[in-house]
Amino acid sequence: MDVTPILDPLNDAQREAVAAPAEPVLVIAGAGSGKTRVLTHRAAWLIEVEGVSPQSLLAVTFTNKAAAEMRGRIESLLKMPVNHLWIGTFHGLAHRLLRRHWQDAKLPQNFQIIDSDDQLRLIKRLLKNLEIDDSRWVPREIQYFINAQKDEGLRPQHIDDEGDETRRQLIAFYQSYQEICERGGLVDFAELLLRAHELWRDRPDVLQHYQRRFSHLLVDEFQDTNAIQYAWLRMLAGKTGLLFAVGDDDQSIYRWRGARVEHIYQFQKDFPQARIVKLEQNYRSTSNILKAANAVIANNSSRMGKNLWTDGIDGEAIKVYSAFNERDEADFIIGRLRDWSAQGNARADAAVLYRSNAQSRVLEEALMNARIPYRVYGGLRFFERQEIKDALAYLRLVSNRDDDSAFERVVNRPTRGIGARTVETMRAYGRANATSMWRAAAAVASDTLAGRASASVLAFMQLIEGMSRDIKNLSLADKVDHVINLSGLIEFFKKEKGEKGETRIENLEELVSAARGFVLDADEDMDELDAFLAHAALEAGEGQADAWEDCVQLMTMHSAKGLEFPMVVMCGMEDGLFPHQRSLNDVHGLEEERRLCYVGITRAREVLYVTYAEQRRLHGMDSYAQQSRFIAELPEDLVEEIRPKIETSRPLRQHQGNRRIATSANLRAGAAEEIGVRLGQRVRHGKFGDGVILNCEGHGAHARVEVNFENAGTKWLVLSYANLDLM
Ligand code: ATP
Ligand code: MG
Repeated sequence: MDVTPILDPLNDAQREAVAAPAEPVLVIAGAGSGKTRVLTHRAAWLIEVEGVSPQSLLAVTFTNKAAAEMRGRIESLLKMPVNHLWIGTFHGLAHRLLRRHWQDAKLPQNFQIIDSDDQLRLIKRLLKNLEIDDSRWVPREIQYFINAQKDEGLRPQHIDDEGDETRRQLIAFYQSYQEICERGGLVDFAELLLRAHELWRDRPDVLQHYQRRFSHLLVDEFQDTNAIQYAWLRMLAGKTGLLFAVGDDDQSIYRWRGARVEHIYQFQKDFPQARIVKLEQNYRSTSNILKAANAVIANNSSRMGKNLWTDGIDGEAIKVYSAFNERDEADFIIGRLRDWSAQGNARADAAVLYRSNAQSRVLEEALMNARIPYRVYGGLRFFERQEIKDALAYLRLVSNRDDDSAFERVVNRPTRGIGARTVETMRAYGRANATSMWRAAAAVASDTLAGRASASVLAFMQLIEGMSRDIKNLSLADKVDHVINLSGLIEFFKKEKGEKGETRIENLEELVSAARGFVLDADEDMDELDAFLAHAALEAGEGQADAWEDCVQLMTMHSAKGLEFPMVVMCGMEDGLFPHQRSLNDVHGLEEERRLCYVGITRAREVLYVTYAEQRRLHGMDSYAQQSRFIAELPEDLVEEIRPKIETSRPLRQHQGNRRIATSANLRAGAAEEIGVRLGQRVRHGKFGDGVILNCEGHGAHARVEVNFENAGTKWLVLSYANLDLM
């Protein structure tokens, strides 16, 4: 058997882990040391060399994107597809289990996943139902409480109120919230994990089946598992369990969501016979970048401590830029991105990382003006858009009448004369009789409601029943198409002014194509529509890029975990922003922020820029900040400070960048003028909506312009056909 392709690209320590005998293994190592690579090679090794069937492997990663990548890598190592290998996120895998064992898990067969928006809405409604003053009770805090309890594996009856009135009330909210979910067959994200755990706990037969099936468990980013995830893994692993976990205590960044880095120590206690492997060579970053990362993280006191080195080149110094304000900062970044492309690099190899999502807006604006294509990971994704959630709510209701959150979303959308009072009557009935909105609607329509309201409610119910009947034998895509068409959403959005409504309708059309492209897992025996709805709910948490295009990557430091880029810009490095205001006075919080900073720095392979603004307008407020303490923690000899030039000591509109680029920009501007447009000019297109002209080429009948549309991305259009409105 030829094991060269599996072992050759590894160093000795990596090989030790990959080719370890059947025993628990824990790989603890710093960023970029090849943990993910080891995990993939281990899977290939088990299948190819140990003869383990792909069916017997369970691999857990952090995002769906990482899961897809991992499958691809294993397949290319083995040169064959591994369909029956279970790879996914904790949530995805838990969901899969619950679908298969819905009865054992005491769920209705067509249970629906609700995302955190739905969850929040449910909680708000709950407060309203209970006639509770929501100035005293913040829905978000209740949501946080409920999820935190679930993450710890606790049901309301398990929680001690510690004699505290507030706590007692929070527990009561959790209880009522859970009742609504049970009634509607609704499962939130934390519930997925908790249920899956309870399934193991309460059904030893089911657990045993999976213990026998999954002889090997592989877990990436182990440092970010929360209590319930770890408990779930341990039960599945059983006494003899072959758990192969890789992680880095310095990259634990989800403590605020219940992750416990202590699991790394717990692992060693729970599996005393485990082999511990440390990887110390970093293959990702230049020596300067690595040294900087090591220096920053050394300021944390609670660490396992490790020695990460590279035999790579020193590379460039880390460049720190102090900007006047956020616009100047954005201009500076644009300048560097331009230089990067001008040197022949791909745009997708450059990433701009920030601490919070709101920071992306200014950057996006600047990128648009500069005509640099970009993609934001972590913004409003397809499945999170209003119109998509509306259509999905119809589908959910068709699949499960008791889904209250779907019912409330669409009962009067589009408006069909079912006003707030009518909805309130239904709610009151539902509350009094502990039943769903749908059943309540049926009851009140026949006796409580006045004629007009009653007719509207009955018509709505007939509409849903009719949809449900009509689509029975249709394909998934036709089902989605049919429901959208009958829902009245299209007409509803047509009335919305401007291109916004049009975009929404396009998105609805896109949903039909998404359904067409949806493939039910070969291993799955669930209803296709339910599977599709679950896919939509799970996918919403993560960026699914549109058609591939070479573009700059924008994302939060959190979502950059596990990824790498030749060039990285970490921006907004100010105290209060990063480290975040909330953590400034809390040692644990501050250490978590520092780990996040370590994650950020170690994403960079060759070039790293760090920027901050002395004055920043964010959330409509101006603030004057100090540079982040993390910048001061970078060793001086690794840093090169870039000072703005004297003549630009007023707020910069345009950075004094690279002359060559300026010249080529002038040339293009001239060409644009020739064909009667202006670079940067706003245009409107019948189908694609509003956009900005980025580029142009050719002349006469062949003149083409490149337009960056706000909602449709960048497109080249032939000017004479495109019917563009120039604004
Ligand atoms: P992170 O902590 O950021 O998740 P990681 O430890 O998972 O990082 P990988 O992403 O697996 O690290 O590897 C980092 C980079 O180093 C990748 O580009 C990988 O291909 C490369 N690499 C890993 N091991 C080796 C090796 N033995 N030889 C050459 N390149 C390697
Ligand atoms: Mg990794």
